Amino acid sequence: MRSLVQKFRNSIHPGYTHVTEESRTTGLPGLMQSPPLQIIDILKYAANAHGSVEVVSRLVDEPEARSTYALELKRAERAASALRALGVKPADRVATLAWNTHRHFELFYAAPGIGAVLNTVNPRLFDEQIVFILNHAEPDVLLFDKTFLPLVERLAPQMRTVTKFVMMSDRLAHTPGMVNALCYEDLLAAQSDGFSWPVVDESSGAFLCYTSGTTGDPKGVLYSHRAVVLHTMGSSLNSAFGFNAFDVVMPCSSLFHATAWGLPFAAPMNGCKLVFPCEKMDGASLQSLITREGVTFTGGVPTIWTMYLAHLESSGEMPGKLQRVVIGGSAVPRAMAERFKKLYGVQVLQIWGMTETTPLGVIATPTPTLAALGEEAMDEAIWTRQGRLQFGIELRIVDEDGNDAPRDGVSSGALLVRGPWTIKRYFRAPADATDTDGWFDTGDIATLDEYGFMRITDRKKDVIKSGGEWISSIDIENVAVSCPGVRIAAVIGIAHPKWEERPLLIVEPHQGVTVEAADVLAHIAAQVAKWQVPDEVVFDTVPLTATGKIDKKALRQIYALRYS
Ligand code: ADP
Repeated sequence: MRSLVQKFRNSIHPGYTHVTEESRTTGLPGLMQSPPLQIIDILKYAANAHGSVEVVSRLVDEPEARSTYALELKRAERAASALRALGVKPADRVATLAWNTHRHFELFYAAPGIGAVLNTVNPRLFDEQIVFILNHAEPDVLLFDKTFLPLVERLAPQMRTVTKFVMMSDRLAHTPGMVNALCYEDLLAAQSDGFSWPVVDESSGAFLCYTSGTTGDPKGVLYSHRAVVLHTMGSSLNSAFGFNAFDVVMPCSSLFHATAWGLPFAAPMNGCKLVFPCEKMDGASLQSLITREGVTFTGGVPTIWTMYLAHLESSGEMPGKLQRVVIGGSAVPRAMAERFKKLYGVQVLQIWGMTETTPLGVIATPTPTLAALGEEAMDEAIWTRQGRLQFGIELRIVDEDGNDAPRDGVSSGALLVRGPWTIKRYFRAPADATDTDGWFDTGDIATLDEYGFMRITDRKKDVIKSGGEWISSIDIENVAVSCPGVRIAAVIGIAHPKWEERPLLIVEPHQGVTVEAADVLAHIAAQVAKWQVPDEVVFDTVPLTATGKIDKKALRQIYALRYS
């Protein structure tokens, strides 16, 4: 078997350099300062330069909280003192099971600020996965939102290391439960303003985020301060999120899922007002925040925007000052981007990334080359691709022999990435997750074109091979969801005696709508090659994973049996 070292080395694109230790050259030492890049400095900056800018937060069973960056720094100082008082030391892990709120935001700064690591656990995972993560990360302190008290009580006996539980609530809403939880606001009130933040080395771990296990057991990705700060600067660029101090940012991707795409850092770094929706992600709840708070920028997985668009359509409302919606986590249906633009004048920015890339990889923003083709051609290019190369992340597409595939937008291959915010090694793993040149195999299959635009065609394990030809499940799903009445479309490969595999389409229609299989198939047949058209359509509920992606593992289990 080829070693990992050799695996991707067969032919290297001329633009790539080897980055192994032995290939480094030391020049004349630079004479500039090199303070460590620290996450807490982002909040300190926001408090100093944008101190009166608001941080608004919905909460569980409590009235909305209105705060400012100046106040948030003070609260982070108190939270840091409180964590210390609970015995948290540098390198310790502090776990959270929490929604998108200002309290969770404070902990994003307080824990890394004292050199500890915030382990943001995804509460939507199965019980066994949550227990696995907590026992793997080994935190002593677990902070949680009130919603999760039953979950925490149920799982506490299996948590090997957690000895202190803190409910992220105020005194009025507090219930200690069977775990005798402390009250977050009481802990903060017991501390005083001001905190002498230690200087934390920039290579220290700051966040421990586990992949949700769509691809096996959860694996821990340990973001360093350096990676997070560089990622924040990279994501703020005009070629990416393009923030300025007039923006009002509402993160609807979860803070517990790869730090909500770094928005809790990028917003304060750019002086943007922040709005936290807590767990209320339904269309009406988001719409009321968007219009009342003047949200200009928001982001989340496609499922949230399907609900939001349905709300706008049924209520006839307009999305206020909303300008940009960043969508990723799974492929953005072209029809979604088109509706946002044509009906509401909102620009959709598709991103691709993964927990292992902190998580921003590429983002689909316009370029002059595309603009020169005319608006329609540019929209088409942007809506049908995951994004384009950004500074800070290198991409390669390699064939089965490890050779670079042509950058023609057609040839597909395994997508490899590397850069200062790409993973090196999983937490507690015995070996690196990359080859010696730093290339990490994402598990995605993609194409790359001459302009640096990348298009995901599949996950390695989801790609369908029919009669020796690849069928991209994502392409077919994309076409299927543009068929009237279709809410979610999922395509999986089903074993076939002649063709090895054939695509099966599972459709979940919009509520109360009847869709005919023949209409869906005719709609698809008009847009893809004949042999790629699924043989059959099944109407069913499409299961989603804890991170809002179509759960193909579950679908394969259901339909492999039914069709065997
Ligand atoms: P998990 O695997 O834990 O659900 P991740 O968020 O790390 O969580 O998932 C990363 C994967 O999600 C990527 O490797 C890719 O397969 C998929 N993905 C992310 N963004 C997109 C996108 N815009 N289009 C298609 N797939 C995407």
